Amino acid sequence: MNRAKILILGAGYGGLSTAVNLQKKLNANDADITLINKNDYHYESTWLHEAAAGTLSPEDVRYDIKNVINGDKIQFVQAAVTGIDVNARKVTTDKGEHTYDYLVIGLGFEGETFGIEGLDKYALSIANVGAARQIREHIEYQFAMWSQDEVKDDSRLTIVVGGAGFTGIEFLGELGNRIPELCKEFDVPQEKVRVLCVEAAPMVLPGFDPELVDYAVRHLESKGIEFSIGTPVVQATPEGVKIKKGEEEFDFIKAGTVVWAAGVRGNRLIETSGIENMRARVKVDKDMRAPGFPDVFIVGDCALMINEEVNRPYPPTAQIAMQQAETVADNLIALMNNEDTHEFVPKLKGSVCSLGEHDAIGDVMGRKITGTKASIMKKIIDNRALYMIGGAPLVMKKGKFNLL
Ligand code: FAD
Ligand code: NAD
Repeated sequence: MNRAKILILGAGYGGLSTAVNLQKKLNANDADITLINKNDYHYESTWLHEAAAGTLSPEDVRYDIKNVINGDKIQFVQAAVTGIDVNARKVTTDKGEHTYDYLVIGLGFEGETFGIEGLDKYALSIANVGAARQIREHIEYQFAMWSQDEVKDDSRLTIVVGGAGFTGIEFLGELGNRIPELCKEFDVPQEKVRVLCVEAAPMVLPGFDPELVDYAVRHLESKGIEFSIGTPVVQATPEGVKIKKGEEEFDFIKAGTVVWAAGVRGNRLIETSGIENMRARVKVDKDMRAPGFPDVFIVGDCALMINEEVNRPYPPTAQIAMQQAETVADNLIALMNNEDTHEFVPKLKGSVCSLGEHDAIGDVMGRKITGTKASIMKKIIDNRALYMIGGAPLVMKKGKFNLL
């Protein structure tokens, strides 16, 4: 085996799982592996809506990378990547430069604003732990200010969520439970609070099973959440959002908080890396390599792969990122052994969308589930992701056991 220099960028589901898979399969002398991540912790992106709503503390959604990495096999560098140049085989960070024989890019997702005016500036996005903390604190600030203000502006208590995809719906589910707590804490009458989800498509959770969608909408409406469907957000201002209601018909919703959850793109560093991309995502070869760059693998949300059965890209999910990581690790080892790489074939098990701590909807292995059953399934999935990376000790430390 050639002792190769492997550089992994990002310790999200894709990057960290690649590192963990490599450390399970290689001896310390087989390769020189470096993992670079902005923070010294990994966060469960799939739990960020909970930290953003304030139903889970930011501390609970993250854990130290060093706890799951074997330092004899993998060198961890805490640094922010600032540039990737695949033609020069060079990566720059705020702490220095790195070269590589093989590069794995797993720098994850960013919120997509589609160039809509004002969103970058005036909307918050559930993008990472810091951003989730900011949303939680912003909402608490609005409640505190309303309580304190002599002349009360009720729009402080309006929260607009842009996008009724999985992220938007899961966040609304948490808000449904959090709002009554906030009202109690800040002496706010609950009827003053308005939570409105604005969705461009003609339905909530477009493309998901209509019966399950109906369950989710009824559940959220029972918590006081409103929906405005078929009405895209077209502008954000410091006062709120403008939505399009008809050909020439617009409405303005005054809101103290706007959370943008209307889709994701890849990490912007991809756009200047020299690799062809679409919205910072790379249409990867079947073995997860970047076209034209046989020494570069892309894993997770920065990778784009077409599901030929429906001729659409597979959705960017943690489920797929972790499966890709196994293939990427195996293919790195194959290349080091001068063997052929193999194709990545996703094994889709379904989706579960939480609606707050004890409710959810899911389509798992072709079976529709709702309520407590779905909620327990979601927690099993969450705990499984921990197990895959850090084994039983990590599940015991960070797992979700409040099943009922
Ligand atoms: P990420 O998890 O985004 O990780 C990227 C890593 O790169 C991070 O550690 C980040 O700090 C690091 N990084 C970024 N930029 C730099 C830089 N410049 N320098 C150094 N490091 C950097 N999917 C599911 O399958 N199931 C779910 O239930 C689910 N729930 C979700 C809930 C929410 C609220 C959200 C937002 C997403 C959810 N997803 C879910 C999608 C899932 O989270 C993503 O598909 C997944 O996180 C992608 O993994 P990744 O490794 O590509 O990137
Ligand atoms: P998404 O792309 O799935 O949904 C975005 C929603 O925003 C869509 O319904 C879209 O119609 C809407 N939208 C777009 N532009 C709009 C506009 N101008 N105004 C109003 N609405 C607009 O994005 P997401 O929900 O952030 O999910 C990202 C990825 O993460 C997906 O692959 C999703 O499956 C995955 N995810 C999975 C889970 C889970 O499995 N439980 C949870 C969260 C996210």
